[in-house]
Amino acid sequence: MSEEQYIQCRNYSSCGDFTDGESEFCENCQEDQSETKQQEEAERLLYAAEQQLQGYCLGKSGLSIVEVVNAMGLVRSEWEALLEQGLVHLDESDREQLNAYFNMPDYD
Ligand SMILES: [Zn+2]
Repeated sequence: MSEEQYIQCRNYSSCGDFTDGESEFCENCQEDQSETKQQEEAERLLYAAEQQLQGYCLGKSGLSIVEVVNAMGLVRSEWEALLEQGLVHLDESDREQLNAYFNMPDYD
């Protein structure tokens, strides 16, 4: 075993193990990493569910799409991120209203 093949685990501050040479983390820490990822994913899903429920309640209140977005405190960078990720399920007219509301550069 040459030294180049054995890289110290990225958690070197708390972990003295070495990786298999391909991963950044040793085996133990890789397991911890995936647990953290699962937790983050679960939190993300909860957050998304909360947002949807909030949107549903706001929708029931008869607010316009712009008022809903205002009430949610959505900012332009978040709107852009949603558009980029294709996560926006709105009809064309709502989408246009929000593009105008956020003063999107390529909005015509
Ligand atoms: Zn480790």
